[in-house]
Amino acid sequence: MKYLIIGAVAGGASTAARLRRLDEHAEIIIFEKGEYISYANCGLPYYIGNVIKDRNQLFVQTATAFNQRFNIDVRVKTEITAIDPSKKTVMALDQTNGNSYEESYDKLILSPGAEPIKPPFPGIHNEGIFTLRNVKDTDYIKAYVDKNKSGKAVVIGAGFIGLEMAENLHQLGMQVSIIEMGNQILAPVDFPVAAELQQHIRSKGIDLRLSTTVAGFDKENGQLKVLIQDQESIEADVVILSIGVRPDTKLAVQAGLKLGAAKGIWVNAYLQTSNPDIYAVGDAIEFENPITNQSMNTYLAGPANKQGRICANNVVNGNKEWYKGAINTAIVKVFDITVATAGMASKHLSKANIEHQVSTTQSGSHAGYYPGAKQMTIQIAFSTNNGRLLGAQVAGYDGVDKRIELLSQAIKQGQTIYDLMQIEHAYAPPFSSAKDPVNMAGFVADNILSKKMNPIYWNQLSQNEDALLVDVRTQDEYNLGHIKGAIHIPIDDLRTRIKELDCSKKIIVYCAVGQRGYLANRILNQNGFEQVFNLSGGYNTWQACNQEF
Ligand code: FAD
Repeated sequence: MKYLIIGAVAGGASTAARLRRLDEHAEIIIFEKGEYISYANCGLPYYIGNVIKDRNQLFVQTATAFNQRFNIDVRVKTEITAIDPSKKTVMALDQTNGNSYEESYDKLILSPGAEPIKPPFPGIHNEGIFTLRNVKDTDYIKAYVDKNKSGKAVVIGAGFIGLEMAENLHQLGMQVSIIEMGNQILAPVDFPVAAELQQHIRSKGIDLRLSTTVAGFDKENGQLKVLIQDQESIEADVVILSIGVRPDTKLAVQAGLKLGAAKGIWVNAYLQTSNPDIYAVGDAIEFENPITNQSMNTYLAGPANKQGRICANNVVNGNKEWYKGAINTAIVKVFDITVATAGMASKHLSKANIEHQVSTTQSGSHAGYYPGAKQMTIQIAFSTNNGRLLGAQVAGYDGVDKRIELLSQAIKQGQTIYDLMQIEHAYAPPFSSAKDPVNMAGFVADNILSKKMNPIYWNQLSQNEDALLVDVRTQDEYNLGHIKGAIHIPIDDLRTRIKELDCSKKIIVYCAVGQRGYLANRILNQNGFEQVFNLSGGYNTWQACNQEF
């Protein structure tokens, strides 16, 4: 058998190695138009920021080592320019000498990745404007940044890579602005989680501008400027354009392969394209989202690598193994905070008309009496009908990764909030509490579904101005700041002062994060108050959202 693979990084290199393990005698050729194979894309921002100091650490494998270990013919600096599915051949362009040649295949695997979106802004070709995808981009950016370490950097786009770049450039001593067209950072998370992160980013001295649109670039007396719609331009020494990526489907289109609704390469459950002899993996494909059952792109290293193994199994053994789809489980460090997400955000569920409820909880990363516990926010979205967990977001300083792993698995396995309540976790005081934050998220969701607590969200207060607002925090907390018009009755006084409240009225209670508010909700309900609502995420979430809105 002869296998050709196009693209030699995450998906391509994984596929190639697995093919060899399954078929020692096959001829395997992997083509890579860049100079390097199997490098750590995910480490590139941290190399630019000098967190990873040794450039060699970025290379998981070299072409020579890969060839020696796996007996795979690695052809770097070789671009596949066309596929002829009827002849089962590809055209390869050797960039070192400009020669083109044909290579035949029995099975072909595409893993060309995604390409950064680079709109035709006026002035986009000015020196100092970069996108970051590969080692070549990294080398350019690093060399440029090293010359301008105390200069001004403008990062356009506040997605995962934009935020990583902003942090790393700031760490180098640059004055950083982030320009984001949306009204929040990180599109996959909901506004309350984003609001907390935005405040943290601003606290680091970053000039974060939301709902701000870049109109183009200009150079005046050698100074690069970012032109902003309806605002003054910003001077920049370095611009990082990270407004998103799209699947690289050029070859697939040229070969007449079917694309899907999300404009990625269409594949079946075996990762086989519309041509039976061509398979595809990674950022370039689209796949059904197991929650919405709609086609979706996933631009993440984990799925690409895992697809590589499944794809190779199917290529060698025949179509036997299904790829079950990804729920976009992702994590990013934003300065001192870590934020992670899995499944669908509430705003996206609403757009897809999926009925759901949301709970926001704040808990300690481990037992409060053991030193060093830090607050963490967990927001989950779950089906109103059956409690199925549909999405989760976690933000905090410690232990975010292990919570999202639990939540992600629960979502992927189709579990419910009732399963979250019983998730068994490893507990000792330095690591968690006897009830883990994930259990707590389940308990609160259960309270919502069983109507023991009615949540009301930060953006619904203005529609409920006729309601009585009751702050149940302590006097000190109240004095430090409260919602205008709130009556103050500390939770410990509520039972004795309950007569001060009119039980025919709608009452909204709130505390700092929602826990005392829940207790107040229960006390009032069981004393004849029927219309009681607890402010989800409490004053902290309300305040962050209002400041950021
Ligand atoms: P890639 O790994 O991009 O590989 C595609 C390769 O195909 C490229 O090297 C390209 O040169 C080559 N190619 C394309 N066309 C041709 C052709 N015609 N001929 C020959 N070669 C071709 N994901 C995470 O999960 N976590 C992270 O923290 C994370 N951080 C990231 C940070 C950065 C800066 C970047 C750029 C990406 C990051 N990602 C992260 C995304 C992750 O790297 C990708 O999802 C993953 O690499 C996709 O694998 P792939 O094989 O589909 O594509």
